[in-house]
Amino acid sequence: MKIRLLVLALLCALLGASAFTLTRSVDEYPLLNPQLVAEITYLSKEYNALPVHHYVVTAANAPAFTLEWQIESAPFFRDTGIISSYTMANVVYTFSDDPNEAFHLLGQTDCGGEVAGFAVQNPSPTIWLNGRVFNPVSPWYQSDFWLPTIIHEIAHDQGVCVGDSPYVESSTQVVTLEVMAAMVNSGNLEALHGLLYEWRSIVEGALMSEAVKSPKALAQFQRFVASVDGSPEAIAFSKGQVAGRFWTKTGIEELKGILTRYELAPYEMVKNGLRVGYLAANETATVDSEGRQAYATILSPNGQALPLDDLRYLFNHLDALVAAAQLQPRR
Ligand SMILES: [Zn+2]
Repeated sequence: MKIRLLVLALLCALLGASAFTLTRSVDEYPLLNPQLVAEITYLSKEYNALPVHHYVVTAANAPAFTLEWQIESAPFFRDTGIISSYTMANVVYTFSDDPNEAFHLLGQTDCGGEVAGFAVQNPSPTIWLNGRVFNPVSPWYQSDFWLPTIIHEIAHDQGVCVGDSPYVESSTQVVTLEVMAAMVNSGNLEALHGLLYEWRSIVEGALMSEAVKSPKALAQFQRFVASVDGSPEAIAFSKGQVAGRFWTKTGIEELKGILTRYELAPYEMVKNGLRVGYLAANETATVDSEGRQAYATILSPNGQALPLDDLRYLFNHLDALVAAAQLQPRR
């Protein structure tokens, strides 16, 4: 069984983006959820304030660099309480000449069996990551999505892997965020780049999942996202044409499903978890097209609830953490 993480952030940000008038006012986007627009505007301000940073993965150092981050992140998975022992993941980088895989697939994990626990089924988990991240001639080179991608795939390997696929993916996204938040709070400010990138993408996806229901709202979404993205407009526009063709061919229903499992559901789970104080363990919940019943729970291999205490602390101290990251020398 292959669990795939798609490149949603790029698609959300760039789908048909044709913004020529860039504004930052909520009033400019009357068809969009004002709370989400304000949240994305704030997150963009924080993310864009970070120093230009790259996860310095290269073809030459990829195995060691990846192992370093796996070693550093491993105890934080156990610290969440949702697993009791950590299984080292075997990570390899690959490349596909299939445009859909090359342009849209960040990584995938072999979860072994669908019924029994993954660690029992397959003691040698394997993760494939898209090699474009270490190719210096690729626009994906050393992107900030490198870290959330590998943390996401490792989370699958630790057992957030067995069950209804949408629930597996939404739960994995939340575990990824909490693990990275714990790393940042422990002093790893490099993890803040990946975390802010991923969380902003998730909030954008939550906004987009509402906007895709109306062409006018989608146009406003595209304009808004381009206004806060920071990418050159001409590039955003041409990439948007590619993304638009992809989703026209793949289908809007597929897009809605992906937005729900990777973006909207994780967003609602985080908000619910912060409100209640934790996400209850639930092995069997599903996320349907609305997905509401799963938003208060998480797929927890250890059967333990997931307190979102590290995400709460990070959100409450984001200004100070970004300021600290600004002072950190690039290695
Ligand atoms: Zn996944």
